[in-house]
Amino acid sequence: MATKFSDKCNQIRARVFARRNALTTARMVSLFDPNSKTSEARIERAKERLAEAEAEMAQHCPESITVTLENGTKFTQDRGVPDKSAKNARDLLKDKIPADDVTDLTEIKLRDDPPPDTKSVRRKKDGKTVNITVKAAATYNKKTKTINDYHPTKEDELKHEIGHHVCYHRMTAKERAAWDKLWRDKRDTMPTDYAKTHEREGFAEAYEFLRNNKELDDDIRKKMIELAGANPSTGGN
Ligand SMILES: [Zn+2]
Repeated sequence: MATKFSDKCNQIRARVFARRNALTTARMVSLFDPNSKTSEARIERAKERLAEAEAEMAQHCPESITVTLENGTKFTQDRGVPDKSAKNARDLLKDKIPADDVTDLTEIKLRDDPPPDTKSVRRKKDGKTVNITVKAAATYNKKTKTINDYHPTKEDELKHEIGHHVCYHRMTAKERAAWDKLWRDKRDTMPTDYAKTHEREGFAEAYEFLRNNKELDDDIRKKMIELAGANPSTGGN
């Protein structure tokens, strides 16, 4: 298992990232001039150039690199994920999440392939059942204790998934039952619509809000600190 991309591989990766940007730019430019043949040709050319660089990357780079973090969690970065995203994720784990929260977490994978299909969840709202569509930008597997985070990697998604890990593996059954009771009582004041769909999603969303210092209902915040612990001190204020 590779732990580092070679210099040659990194040169090719840089080219892939530049060409992805070029394709995005070509697409944005075409929005202002949707019927132009020139825009279409520019997009096609950008796609070809990107495909060439990606083929070269596939030939010269391992699919991913894996390092083991201090607490034993494996940290995997696909070759198509920029190093800056990987650094942000590692800094988040180091500075913004209490070490206890990720104890026993087997692996975090920053992936470059597309996320799984969008899922639709049902919830009751004012007596009516409505569907909420959720794009799974990241997933947590409670059996393997693995987080898959699909590029572009966002901190909030990673926090949400760590929230699931805390709930399933860092809390007792009794603590989960206490949360479930609070969730039922406080469902309408849960921080997001998604948090209202299920007890476990409610916990993961509340965890993300707690770690981000975002506003939470007082009772929910109190319970979250009791169950998941306070935020790490920033050393400043
Ligand atoms: Zn979730």
